Amino acid sequence: MNPFNKPYLSGKELHYIEDAVKRGKLSGDGYYTKKCHDFFITNYGVKKVLLTTSCTDALEMASLLLDIKPGDEVIMPSYTFVSTANAFELRGATIKFVDSRKDHPGMDEQLIASLITPKTKAIVVVHYAGVACNMDVIKELANKHDLFVVEDAAQAIDSYYKGKPLGSIGHLGTFSFHETKNIQCGEGGLLMINDNRFVKRAEILWEKGTNRSAFFRGEIDKYGWVDVGSSFLPSELNAAYLFAQLESLKNIQEQRKNLWQHYFESLTEWTKANQIQLPFVPNFATNNGHMFYLICKNSEQRAQLIAYLKNQNILSVFHYISLHSSPYFLNKHDGRILPMSEVYTDRLLRLPMYYELDVNHVINVLLSYGE
Ligand SMILES: *Cc1c(COP(=O)(O)O)cnc(C)c1O
Repeated sequence: MNPFNKPYLSGKELHYIEDAVKRGKLSGDGYYTKKCHDFFITNYGVKKVLLTTSCTDALEMASLLLDIKPGDEVIMPSYTFVSTANAFELRGATIKFVDSRKDHPGMDEQLIASLITPKTKAIVVVHYAGVACNMDVIKELANKHDLFVVEDAAQAIDSYYKGKPLGSIGHLGTFSFHETKNIQCGEGGLLMINDNRFVKRAEILWEKGTNRSAFFRGEIDKYGWVDVGSSFLPSELNAAYLFAQLESLKNIQEQRKNLWQHYFESLTEWTKANQIQLPFVPNFATNNGHMFYLICKNSEQRAQLIAYLKNQNILSVFHYISLHSSPYFLNKHDGRILPMSEVYTDRLLRLPMYYELDVNHVINVLLSYGE
């Protein structure tokens, strides 16, 4: 079976892991963690980052940092991964789901204003497929109503909004290095802290509610319990693996974007003939080759395509049952209908996308469908 995803090895991963073992310090915040932090600070010009064990954890840190409490309202898209919502649900927030854009699964920024109330505390944007949300509009709303902006940039490494790196635009940004993402270490994540007010507390939450990071820097002479927190930091083994991937970022990105472009160009005529839509990238956004998806004519056509591809040993998948209509949330939802979110739930199909993919093979199989 041609897989849907295959984690890419740059070649240096095992070497760095061996080195980490030889250094004799494998718990978090060591040599390779610092190398990874420096990579982001140098290459993306951001002030402060912290590696986490997942994007889920980075989102939970964001929710803690914003001091989300029961009764606070948080606005986010319905068409997203559960972790975007869970992080705020865990703190007792009331979640207000927004519909997606007509031309793109990202949230429709025009629908946000009507959901803002005096209780609204934050807007969480998700840069679906690594394609930016309309950040100027969202930031302006946030400024006007004194709201925080969190970017779930799990899929958005090395992608930009009007030239600015995604994850660096809101107060906080979160990334995933899960094995299905462009840059990965099995399970891993990162929190970007773009507002100085959060820097000190972020380090404390990260180190189980202690001021251990300041102690290691020699700023204090003993460390102890000063706040809530958890074990959000990954081991040096994960950081060592991740550093090898980061060093290959340019190469990985180039390859993925080429594959994406090849899919796009080769399938243009075929999608027209079959009433299928290709992905759309608004002109304020970039494509980072994270995902190649199709919007099928209807759910029957999607099921047919999945079966057709499977029959030719190619695995394609769909995802995101809209969160507002999920078994957990259905009774909590305010009843608004989110038509575009349902369209993507029913009709979006993801094609295989990974570094070593034989994209021509998948394209040829698709071109023989519908003839
Ligand atoms: C992958 C993903 C996550 C979760 O990332 P983990 O690192 O697996 O916790 C969260 N949000 C979005 C949009 C994702 O794609």
